[in-house]
This record gives sequence, structure tokens and C-alpha cells, in this order.
Amino acid sequence: MSFDQLGLSDKVQAAVATSGYTTPTPIQEQAIPHVLQRRDVLGIAQTGTGKTAAFTLPMLTLLEKGRARARMPRTLILEPTRELAAQVEESFEKYGKNHKLSMALLIGGVSFDDQDAKLTRGVDVLIATPGRLLDHFERGRLLLSGIEVLVIDEADRMLDMGFIPDIERICKLTPFTRQTLFFSATMPPEIQRLVGQFLTNPIKIEVSRPASTVDAVTQILVSSASDPAKKREILRALIRAETNIKNGIIFCNRKTEVAKLHRSLVRHGFSAIALHGDMDQRSRMNALESFRKGEVTLLIASDVAARGLDIPDVSHVFNFDVPHHAEDYVHRIGRTGRAGRAGASFTIASSADGKSVAAIEKLIGRKIEWKDAPAPVEDSAPRKTEHKGRRRERDNKRAAPAERTEDGRERADSRPPQEREPRRPQRQPVEPSGDAVASHLPAFLLRPVPVKAG
Ligand code: AMP
Repeated sequence: MSFDQLGLSDKVQAAVATSGYTTPTPIQEQAIPHVLQRRDVLGIAQTGTGKTAAFTLPMLTLLEKGRARARMPRTLILEPTRELAAQVEESFEKYGKNHKLSMALLIGGVSFDDQDAKLTRGVDVLIATPGRLLDHFERGRLLLSGIEVLVIDEADRMLDMGFIPDIERICKLTPFTRQTLFFSATMPPEIQRLVGQFLTNPIKIEVSRPASTVDAVTQILVSSASDPAKKREILRALIRAETNIKNGIIFCNRKTEVAKLHRSLVRHGFSAIALHGDMDQRSRMNALESFRKGEVTLLIASDVAARGLDIPDVSHVFNFDVPHHAEDYVHRIGRTGRAGRAGASFTIASSADGKSVAAIEKLIGRKIEWKDAPAPVEDSAPRKTEHKGRRRERDNKRAAPAERTEDGRERADSRPPQEREPRRPQRQPVEPSGDAVASHLPAFLLRPVPVKAG
């Protein structure tokens, strides 16, 4: 199958040809003809399958007829994060280079006035995160009654981020005659419910990630003590030992750790940049851009900040922390080994990570190999007080986790970590620009509360 058999307009086909794509991906092949026939589509697919072009290309073709009116966008694409929204805008620019369509991006961290000026002139394509879109709507700057096509992308991510009520509200503000294109990597019950409520007789297309990413990636577990300073040391050794690193993403579970690790790696002379939810929009875009261009070798990121980002051709993934959710592991290592290339992933794990590792192995259906021996159970003997003069260890001491909380305060619980009750990983709604909620909680709220018997 080639692109000229899908019913796309000449202008769109010309843009696809310039971008160098010759064969449509399975989701493009299956979705495009239906989108062009104005059918609702339910695409069960994740990033990396070519799903963005699967909706962008036919939308551009459809938009060739008709024109935009002031404050009444013709199409609306909802994305869970600012980065994804910006990525979709890039796709529209790339594939729409032969069109004279107007576009607006409504995302947080960008001035309202500029966005507003665009809306006033009238836009064909509006790409937005739900919160910012509703802000504009509530200010009376935007009408959604002219929407012909509504795209809800990464719906399960929207669910994770607590956006479903916003999505429902937005759907109800658009005409019921609209065409709805809905994409989600997974279909939990809340998402099924949304589909039942807002899609009309949809064509269902399910595609898996190309070449089962998990199989294309070498996966290694590296044992470590749970002390972040020790983990940083192990990480540095791993990076130095890998002679074939083109570029790598290092994942941490918390944004505080992202920032700390970034500072540490830079201090040790590595070419590294951080990406986390506390950075402003411009810094995040700049970080991503310099990583994409190869100006920096290592990107240190949290799951939320990196979610869904299209960063092709990453040679290595390092998990500084074992993710609490097994699906996050699959998403993380899916950053490498794309398009048939070989990829390598290393996961630093301590004895405290046993359960999470077991859950990952269950999900991927195989055991992950250890680099050396599995992480030994940590010694529970109390630490000796360090000699004041050991300045070389200053960095390590500052981050010693058994005694200190994330933000460096003394922990009242003096038991060694393995004797304390594990923190329960939490799945909670997070702000669009936020990271794991747990990292905002004061440490005392996360400490187990002793319950008196009787
Ligand atoms: P997506 O799943 O939309 O994030 O796309 C993943 C990557 O595949 C992006 O880098 C696209 O530029 C690329 N891509 C999209 N369609 C094709 C195609 N037909 N052939 C080759 N690469 C493609």
C-alpha cells in the first residue's frame, strides 16, 4: 500500500513525499480512508505507531474545503501535555506546508494575548491542552460551536492526569454532529465509557507498536544500594563503560531527583540536560530541542515530563529508579530500539525494588538479566558517623537517603530503610505541568503511622 491509494489530496501527498515517507504505517493505512469519509475513529495505539499523521493528513485534506471564522475554530485537537501539543503543531506545519491554513496552540506557560490575537483572526486548527482551552472559553474568547473535527489524543494519559471531567465538558461544548477521532494506548473502563458516550458508531483500529519494542531492546538490571549517591556512582560507571552511546534518556521517579541527578552529572563533566515539570515552558522546549539536535548527549527526565514525546533514535535508556508502575517501564524502554534499531536499557535496582521488578517481569513476560548479582539485602547496621574532614564524600552525605528525606530534612524514623514500611506508590491526578504528586507531599505525610493495638 502506498500513500496515493488512501484518498489524500495532492497537496498533502506532496508534503508526505517531501518528508520522505513512502509507506503508510498500519494505523495510517487503516484510519485515513475512514477519516476522509467522516467516520468516527477509535484508534488503540501508542506513540511511535505514526498515529499523529494518521489524523493530521486526512484532516488537512478535509480542511481544504471551507474557511475559518473569527473565534470559531474548525477543528480541535486535545493533548495531555504542552510538549505533545507542540509536537502535533510541528506535524501540521510539516504536512501542511502546501496549505494556507491558520493554526493556534493553546497551552499553559504561553501569553494569553498572543493566543487570543490568533483566535480573533480565525483558526482552522486549534491544538490545546484541556485546562488552557477552558480558560479561553470561560473568558468568552472562543466558541466551540464551529468544530467539525475533534481529536482526543492520548486519552489514557488524560485519565492519569485527571483531565476526564474537562474532556467531557469540552465534548459537550462542541456540536454533536462533529466527527470525533479518539486515540488511546490502553482502554481502561473510564475510557470505554467516554468512547460510548461521545463517539458515534466508530471504526475501531488496534495496532501494536512496531517490531515489539521490548524484544528489540537489550535489558539489564544493575544492582545497587538504595542510596542515591551510590546509584549516581553506578550510573556514571555504566555510562562510561558503554562506548557506543549516541544519546540516552535517564529516567527518575521524582522531579526532585531529576534536578539533583542533572546537577551531579554536569559536575562530573557529562553532557546532560534535565526535563521536569517544574521547568517553565521555554526551558522545557529548549532542553528537548538541544537533545533532539544532539547538542547534549543525556536527557534526564521524569515519566510525566517525557510522556509521549517523540524523540527518535535514542541509543540508551537508563532507569535511575525502577518505576513504580510496570507500564511505565515499557514506555521508558520503548524510547530506544525504535524502527528496528538496536537499543540498550539499564535499570538500577536495589533490594527494596524487588516487588516492582517482579511486576515488570510479569508484564513483559520474561526475566530481566542482572549485570552481576541481584541486589543484596542491605546491611541494617547503623551507619558510623562520618569523619568531618572527608570532603570528597560531601556530595554523597548530603543525599544519604536512609537518614534524610527528599528535601534534605532529617527523618525522624531512624530505622534502616528495609525495616520501614514501603511507601505505597500512588496513582493520583496530577497538574498538567506537574510531576508525581508524591513529590509535593511533605515527608511526614508519607511516613507510616503507628497504630496502637486495642
Ligand atoms: P507518532 O506515533 O505519530 O508519534 O509518530 C512516530 C514517528 O514516526 C514520528 O517521528 C513520525 O515522523 C514517524 N512517521 C510517521 N509516519 C511515518 C511513515 N509513514 N513512515 C515512516 N515514519 C513515519
